[in-house]
Amino acid sequence: MSGADSLPDDLEGVRESLIEWYRRDHRDFPWRRTDDPYAILVSEVMSQQTQLERVEEAWAAFLERWPDAEALAAADRSAVVGFWTDHSLGYNNRAKYLHEAARQVGEEFGGEFPEEPDDLRELQGVGPYTANAVASFAFDNGDAVVDTNVKRVLYRAFDVPDDDSAFEETAGELMPAGESRVWNNAIMELGGVACRKTPRCDEAGCPWREWCRAYETGDFTAPDVPTQPTFEGSRRQKRGRAIRVLKEYDELPLDELGPRVRVDYGGETGEEWLRGLVSDLADDGLVEIEGDRVRLRR
Ligand code: SF4
Repeated sequence: MSGADSLPDDLEGVRESLIEWYRRDHRDFPWRRTDDPYAILVSEVMSQQTQLERVEEAWAAFLERWPDAEALAAADRSAVVGFWTDHSLGYNNRAKYLHEAARQVGEEFGGEFPEEPDDLRELQGVGPYTANAVASFAFDNGDAVVDTNVKRVLYRAFDVPDDDSAFEETAGELMPAGESRVWNNAIMELGGVACRKTPRCDEAGCPWREWCRAYETGDFTAPDVPTQPTFEGSRRQKRGRAIRVLKEYDELPLDELGPRVRVDYGGETGEEWLRGLVSDLADDGLVEIEGDRVRLRR
């Protein structure tokens, strides 16, 4: 089976729901507010080895000191490397490459950043992933990003086999044409805040729950998560099932909901257990409880 074979028929629904989810709320990293290729390249190189939250401060300081490629190209290499070390940004080589890339933009590209991923790869230290990220985020001109987060999402949601070409093919098929900026941001956000190693399907309001195979089966293993996060996984699975049952019936008494959520309803996993589960769902704003009845919140 190829990767794209496993996508749901309602591709438009899958696309729109994710973009809408991303637009409604996302982590507000400053480099998401710019389309300056230089600033984006700096953020990408810095994030290769450093957590995003920590990159923010270093990124702002770097841009204040060297606001564009021309300024960076004119700097002493030792100053750039020194900055890298002072901010604990990982391998110094990355600072050297960035400095060199800035020089190339001036000397080989006439001071204008290239817009195509293939041309961006001419820049020192810029591999396929970074080239595509800069093309997407600066020029809305990239292909679908496939990183570990994206692979995890595709593997769980659509059962894509753990195979690089299957991931590439599915990711490409899924991305709406010409919308690489919003799409790549959105799917990476999904992997970063919802479909984490321990997934947060309901808590993060994952927009793909209705299509997701892992959500349906409760098997949240993934290429980078070989062992099922057991307790979390099975509780999530039951939460998901309760929501799906309520979508079907709209409202049910607890003693009718219980057996539909788990076949072994009763005893230790009886009413008390179910009340705990639905009150979590109520806390998350997903259902309403009135006496013995549970209703889906619209
Ligand atoms: S429902 Fe859960 S497992 Fe499926 S894509 Fe969303 S966060 Fe990932």
